[in-house]
Amino acid sequence: VSHKANMIIQPDFRFEDLGIGGLDHEFSNIFRRAFASRIFPPDLVSKLGVQHVKGILLYGPPGTGKTLMARQIGKMLNAVEPLIVSGPEILNKFVGQSEENVRKLFEPAEREYRERGDQSQLHIIIFDELDAICKQRGARSDSTGVGDSVVNQLLAKMDGVNQLNNFLIIGMTNRKELIDDALLRPGRLEVQIEVGLPDEPGRLQIIKIHTAKIRSNGILGDDVDLAELAALSKNYSGAEISGVVKSASSYAFNRHIKVADTAELSQDISDMKIMRQDFLNALD
Ligand code: ATP
Repeated sequence: VSHKANMIIQPDFRFEDLGIGGLDHEFSNIFRRAFASRIFPPDLVSKLGVQHVKGILLYGPPGTGKTLMARQIGKMLNAVEPLIVSGPEILNKFVGQSEENVRKLFEPAEREYRERGDQSQLHIIIFDELDAICKQRGARSDSTGVGDSVVNQLLAKMDGVNQLNNFLIIGMTNRKELIDDALLRPGRLEVQIEVGLPDEPGRLQIIKIHTAKIRSNGILGDDVDLAELAALSKNYSGAEISGVVKSASSYAFNRHIKVADTAELSQDISDMKIMRQDFLNALD
């Protein structure tokens, strides 16, 4: 909890409120290694000579909550809504403008830093599918060399902003081995954290998060055992579990529509419950 720093964690902050299931370890790791220094008062940071981490890499299978964590950490630190850009999107833009696109991403943070210095909010830039930019570098499979120049532009930006304390780059990838080594050096994406598929307790937390609304609305059937669903969803990602809950709701809804007399539809829907069998169908 900090007072003078521009980034403040609310005293009543609770990890449970972030809606992130099963990633307590990863979250605290990211926070400790990449963000803790940001809640110190700026004068203390400069006295101690602490260098804020400018970049982190989150890697692991799709749909495991990487973007979710990045967003929630941003909220927690009162950051500007993160800019999310995808690697392929940057490359697909008109050739020759990719570097310009990268440069532009940094402009708001640079402008605010000029105006407010250390009082600037944190600007987070998320590069989703970062590997798409890196793949071509050196491999020369891409005759335009666009990948190379985009990475170079990104490196130049990250290296040139030593004094700029108000931004953080978060790279994301499903394939860490494709990420250019140059990007992983100290001062760049120096904190690297794996975000894997959730284990059973993690899946239970995710199921609880994604059924919270239907449980509080009283439409979860009495025969549904969330722990059983957690056991049955081995190897499912958080995104897939969220999909299962949505799909189970659709099964329940369709079941009700089939039996309902149209005139009494709204009456019937108000009695609708999502039953164990709906979840089993969804899991299938
Ligand atoms: P990708 O690599 O495909 O970009 P990602 O790891 O960034 O995936 P997210 O975009 O964070 O995945 O996840 C998609 C959605 O799945 C989230 O918005 C959330 O609804 C759900 N989800 C994923 N993981 C979790 C989790 N650990 N806890 C709660 N919900 C989750």
